[in-house]
Amino acid sequence: MEHNRTADELEGKDRKHLWHHMAPYSDKAAPMIVTEGKGSWITDLNGKRYLDAMSGLWCVNVGYGRKELAEAAYEQLLTMPYYPLSQSHLPAIRLAEKLSEWLEGEYVIFFSNSGSDANEAAFKMVRQYQQQIGRHSRYKFISRYRSYHGGSMGALSATGQAQRKYKYEPLSSGFLHVRPPDSYRRPAGMSVHDFNLQCAQAIEDTIVWEGEETIAGVILEPVITGGGIIVPEPAYLERVQEICRSHGVLLIVDEVICGFGRSGRKFGHHNFGLKPDIVTMAKGLTSGYLPLSATAVCKDIYEVFKEQEDYSYFRHVNTFGGNPAACALALKNLEILETEGLVERARLLGERLSEQLAELDSHPLVGDIRSFGFLTGIELVKSKETKAPVSLATVKKIMATCKERGLIIGKNGDTVAGFNNVLTLAPPLSSTDEDLDFIVTTVKQVMSENEKETD
Ligand code: PMP
Repeated sequence: MEHNRTADELEGKDRKHLWHHMAPYSDKAAPMIVTEGKGSWITDLNGKRYLDAMSGLWCVNVGYGRKELAEAAYEQLLTMPYYPLSQSHLPAIRLAEKLSEWLEGEYVIFFSNSGSDANEAAFKMVRQYQQQIGRHSRYKFISRYRSYHGGSMGALSATGQAQRKYKYEPLSSGFLHVRPPDSYRRPAGMSVHDFNLQCAQAIEDTIVWEGEETIAGVILEPVITGGGIIVPEPAYLERVQEICRSHGVLLIVDEVICGFGRSGRKFGHHNFGLKPDIVTMAKGLTSGYLPLSATAVCKDIYEVFKEQEDYSYFRHVNTFGGNPAACALALKNLEILETEGLVERARLLGERLSEQLAELDSHPLVGDIRSFGFLTGIELVKSKETKAPVSLATVKKIMATCKERGLIIGKNGDTVAGFNNVLTLAPPLSSTDEDLDFIVTTVKQVMSENEKETD
């Protein structure tokens, strides 16, 4: 029996048979083999407990160990485990209706399995839409440097982090990138507001320089998450939306991380009053319990696919997309978020976290602290004047010390640009007051023990 094996044996088997995601082979540390989760806490094979302040991979919004979610999936598996969505089934209909309600607009939902899938579907929809309204030359997409939109070839092409891309060239053609509104690194002497408007203008300049008639869409996260928590001014996003509208360019908002309460509102873009043409979502949709993602398309775009000849339908299929058990589980997940008031709780916890971490501003290695809902990035620099990033060794040491003390935090940024220096916190939205105290106390303590760079 598996649980009778020693940890050493299992680690050996793990190293021999399992190819980990994004983990360097040179990493001498044994992999953490997790065995259980409850609330914000996970337990490893040795029985050590950790508060998971990254919610897995920014996804376990309702926390671990929710029996109701397992039951919802189980019941559905017994009744009707699978049918393709070229036809229909009850959990998909109910979830699509619920998501439209959450989106506060008229949207039609296309289901897939992952965030990458949802973005791929969006790119194909946008290209086909532009063709069907007679704009045959529009095929290009604009996104921002430092963004992450997924690992499949199209989504990776939209991604703006060079280190994730250059080994897999050539990627899909027609993806252009512009500077994100990373206000902390704005040119000296420029106000945050002017810089935000300048970054929005970079999108319009690209549209004009490339030829408006070649641009199909813009894709962006409301707040860049994986690239280091880059929070724009509302004016930036308002202006980008205006630019898209005035040039016939569709706006895709990637809510894979910002959605489902993380931002303190149902979706990240609700904080900015945006009305996206397409919204993509995954992660928090099922709190990570089962794979499921969605591409929500505004009614007007959907109508264009319906209106025309038979060959105008969307030629995209995804075998597992919208699996009945995953949809049933997602519905229960949304019910939990609603009945437990977790969206509002995320806002409250986020405010408290920001207030309590504010004193780290005076820490010699802290350059900037940025928050959006229950999501915080602490940017570490060697010098507050030059803003040169700290070494990766320093970031790793802080993370490792937190882990020793039972707290898992993340690191984000862009390694090639030298910016993998943002400590990240995105705990479950169901975290208790005690969980929050533990996060704050541990982070502050570990930071106070690391006031200098590690060699
Ligand atoms: N978009 C964003 C903003 C993401 O953070 C991610 C995953 N981290 C994706 C898309 C891709 O999602 P997946 O890994 O489920 O394909």
